[in-house]
Amino acid sequence: MGFAEQRALESEYVMGTFARKPVQLVEGAGMRVVDSEGNQLLDFIAGIGVCSLGHCHPSLVNALCEQAHKLVHVSNYYYIENRGEVAKMVSDLMNVGVEEADQEVWQSFFSNSGAESNECAIKLSRLYARKRAAAQAEPGKQAQAFAAAPRTIVVMERSFHGRTLATLAATAQPVKQEAFMPLPDGFVATPLNDIAALEQLFEQQGDSICAIMLEPIQGESGVHPATPEFMQAARRLTAERGALLVCDEVQCGIFRTGKPFGFQNFGVVPDIVTIAKGVASGFPMGMCAARASVAAAFEPGDHGTTFGGSNLAVSSALAVLRTIRDEAIAENVLRVGAYMRERLASLPGVVEVRGFGLMNAADLREGVSAPDVVSRALGKGLLLNATGPSTLRFLPPLICTEADVDALVEALGELLG
Ligand code: PLP
Repeated sequence: MGFAEQRALESEYVMGTFARKPVQLVEGAGMRVVDSEGNQLLDFIAGIGVCSLGHCHPSLVNALCEQAHKLVHVSNYYYIENRGEVAKMVSDLMNVGVEEADQEVWQSFFSNSGAESNECAIKLSRLYARKRAAAQAEPGKQAQAFAAAPRTIVVMERSFHGRTLATLAATAQPVKQEAFMPLPDGFVATPLNDIAALEQLFEQQGDSICAIMLEPIQGESGVHPATPEFMQAARRLTAERGALLVCDEVQCGIFRTGKPFGFQNFGVVPDIVTIAKGVASGFPMGMCAARASVAAAFEPGDHGTTFGGSNLAVSSALAVLRTIRDEAIAENVLRVGAYMRERLASLPGVVEVRGFGLMNAADLREGVSAPDVVSRALGKGLLLNATGPSTLRFLPPLICTEADVDALVEALGELLG
C-alpha cells in the first residue's frame, strides 16, 4: 500500500492523538530509516529515545526471532527464561559507583511502558509508607497507623511521567491535566532546582510526604537537568523523613547519558528507579526497580500485569543490555554526545545547548520556530523533534557517530541560516 492510501486510512481510522509528520517509514538500519518513497533519513529522535541500538540491530533482531520460535508469552504465573538475568543486570547497574559495603540488591517489576513503570512506583511508594508506619506503631494501633501514613508524592513543575490518570496527575503541567479532571490526588508540585522551596514544603507538609518523584533530567520539557545540589537535597530530605526518592529514568536511563542511569551523574542513589524506552530498543518493555528492602512491601496480589516481562520482552532486553556492554556503547555516548553539544553550540541560530550524553537540546534564537525546522528537516533527510516553540531535542540511537553529527549540523546550518 502506498503512502497516500496509508495516510487516508490512518486519517479515517486512527485516533488523532499525534500530529503525524507526512512520511511513512518502512525500513531501517542503524541511524538510518527509509521512507515508502525510498528516501533515506538520519534519525535523531529514535522512536522518542527508544531505539538505543539503532534500527534493526542484528543482536536484537536475532534475539527476537530466536525467542519468537521458542515461546512468546506465558504470563507471570511462571518463571521465565532470561528474566532473572535481566533483573540482575539492572540491579548490578544500579550499584555502579556505589562503595561495595553500601551496595544493595535491587528487585524489578516488569511492565510494558514508562507510564506503567511509574504507576508501579507510585503504588509501591504509598504501600511502603503504610507498611513502615504500621510496623513502627504500638501494638493495637497498627491499622490506624497504616491508614494515616504519609501518602503525598512531591513532583516537579514541568515534569512528565506519562499519560495514565495517576501519571498525568504526577505530570505537573496544568495544560495537559485540565481536560481530564478529576485526577487522582496526592501529588504536590514544586519548582525543579529550588532547594529553598523544597525545604519549605518539607517543613510544612513533611509528615504527609511519602516520596519525591523526579526526572534527574527532564526530557519532555526540553532537556532540563536537575542540579547535583537539588538532587542531594531531595535525597537528604527524604532520608530524614523515611520517605523515598523515586527517579523516573524512562528517558534518561539505560546509558542515554553515558552512565547506566541518569542519577549517577548527580552523586545520589535513589530508592526506586523507573525504566522503559531504551531498555529493549523498541520492543515495548518497562521496569520499576527498587531496593530490595523497599520492594519487600509488595506481596502477591498487590500489583500485576498480564503482558509485562514476557519471554519475548526479556530476551530482547537481555540482548540489548549485553550489546551495550560488549560494544562499549557508553564510551561512544559520552564522546559523541560532547561532540554534538559542541557542534550544535557553534550554529548561528542556536542560543543555548543543554544535555548529557546523547540526550541534548538546542534553544533557537527568537523568531525561529523549532516545529518549522523539524518539518523542513524532513526534506533534508533528517528526523528531528521539537519539545516546544523554540527548542529542538536530540535523542539519537546510542550508536550515533561523529559523522552523523556532522551531517546533522551541516543540514541544520542550512535550515537555520
Ligand atoms: N516518564 C518519562 C520521563 C518520559 O519521558 C515518558 C515518555 O516520554 C514517560 C514517563 C511515559 O512513557 P510511556 O510513553 O512509555 O508510557
